[in-house]
Amino acid sequence: MTLRLICSDLDGTLIPSGYCAESHRALRTFARLISKHEIQLAYVSGRDHRLVQQVIDEYQLPAPDYVISDVGASIYACHEHNWTLIQDWHHHIGPDWGGRGALDIAVFFAETPGLILQEDAHQGRYKLSFYAPLEVDQSALLWHVQELAGEHQLAVSLIYSVDHGKHIALLDILPAAANKLAAIRYLMNLLRLHADEVLFAGDSGNDMDVLSSELPAVLVANAHDSVRRQALRMARQAGYCDQLYVARGVKGDGRYADGVIEGIQFYFPDLREAI
Ligand SMILES: [Mg+2]
Repeated sequence: MTLRLICSDLDGTLIPSGYCAESHRALRTFARLISKHEIQLAYVSGRDHRLVQQVIDEYQLPAPDYVISDVGASIYACHEHNWTLIQDWHHHIGPDWGGRGALDIAVFFAETPGLILQEDAHQGRYKLSFYAPLEVDQSALLWHVQELAGEHQLAVSLIYSVDHGKHIALLDILPAAANKLAAIRYLMNLLRLHADEVLFAGDSGNDMDVLSSELPAVLVANAHDSVRRQALRMARQAGYCDQLYVARGVKGDGRYADGVIEGIQFYFPDLREAI
């Protein structure tokens, strides 16, 4: 049997922002599919591990083998309710911030026009998160933050996304070596998997690095038009068009969990009979 690693974003990808009957049906199918095959399941989220656990309970999602939380800044190995932080990952990304954590560096960015520090619950050891107004000049803001980071000898990864439901932009500052893609590659290495044994599902800006990478990926049909255009453009530029499948609704509507299933069927046709 082939081992596969299925990596799925949560909010806006596997689960909708509000109640959606279609999506709950698809989630049950997803759980059945995962349980029947030799699949390692990783949730890949901007949430911290407590909020990931909360959403797993709330939606009765299948128990994951791994959780990549804080947009890639932390990785947990999971055995039922026993989750263990993979310290080695922090040892790998920590030097980019010279041993400092998010709370130590927040002050460097506090005066940046437009940036508003997110609530404590959204901050992680290696994830510093801000809100920004939608109308902000994104490239000027990112350039400015990058400059500030440089002044303080911080090597950073900037992850910008838009919460279309709340009409606000989100900026996550991570160590340069940390993002969703780097964390997934770390897991692949751990499990000795090749790209064709992996699938990623996502819906928004903080998924862009994986959506436009060499890893097979599915963009769910509910993704915003601007995300779809950007993902297709970036995948094309990187030469990975064939590795980005945009769900359109084959058996269902291609939204949320149904889109994730559509992606699994597209890349792993041998799993079709199980659905
Ligand atoms: Mg999402």
